[in-house]
Amino acid sequence: MSEVIVQVENLSKSFGSLEVIRDVSFTVGPGEVLGIIGPSGSGKSTMLRCITQLEKVSGGSISICGKQMVKDGIYANKKELHQIGLNAGLVFQNFNLFPHFTVLRNITEAQIHVLGRSNAQAQQRGRELLAKMGLSDKENAYPCELSGGQQQRVSIARALALDPQVLFFDEPTSALDPELTGEILKVIRELAQEHMTMVVVTHEMAFARDLSDRIIFMDGGVIVEQGPAQEVINNPQQERTKHFLNRFKENN
Ligand code: ADP
Ligand code: MG
Repeated sequence: MSEVIVQVENLSKSFGSLEVIRDVSFTVGPGEVLGIIGPSGSGKSTMLRCITQLEKVSGGSISICGKQMVKDGIYANKKELHQIGLNAGLVFQNFNLFPHFTVLRNITEAQIHVLGRSNAQAQQRGRELLAKMGLSDKENAYPCELSGGQQQRVSIARALALDPQVLFFDEPTSALDPELTGEILKVIRELAQEHMTMVVVTHEMAFARDLSDRIIFMDGGVIVEQGPAQEVINNPQQERTKHFLNRFKENN
């Protein structure tokens, strides 16, 4: 296996004349958890969307598990992009489950159509993951019958079902009532203990500090500061980081 799971070099992204990511570079190693924090509008979601092929970069390079997805703004061919995409799962803020499919079918659908697993194989893997998420009794329920926390656990199971090498989370708890946040943080913590490689955008500062190996603070489309999690949160060096973290303390 490659020594680097995610490599981002000089990534830039503009929407028309609006530059939202500028010259961002970082790597994520196997089993590492990278936390990403920063104010709203700083480009965090756009960056995850670029890495998971939901947006096209404007410039720079990205490779996943040693395979070059885009180099200096030039993309690999369609087949390669598909293969590379299978290695990177994304968990959305708003779950994005299919409302007209049962919980189990939400998890089996892509296994069957993308990975070519049989229905039986996909169901077996789906049931394993539902058990892991504490949702074995919900396989025949529809998403609207579940709490937000349960829906988010289904969407984590759906992402894991494709056996990604790295999982990206975009503010996985921000659409949840505060009392449901804990159950999602617990699941992510358990995945970290199993050495799942993860990139987690979050506004839960204590969680980011305790979970992550390293933290990146983004503001205005650039990385202002990055380093070991404890250092960035407890002893930030840059004024903008200090300001952001202070404002956070006041608001929470
Ligand atoms: P964050 O996730 O850090 O809150 P985003 O990546 O969502 O930030 O947004 C970064 C900037 O990019 C914002 O100014 C936002 O308005 C802009 N933006 C995001 N998506 C689009 C889009 N599809 N078209 C135009 N502007 C966008
Ligand atoms: Mg966002």
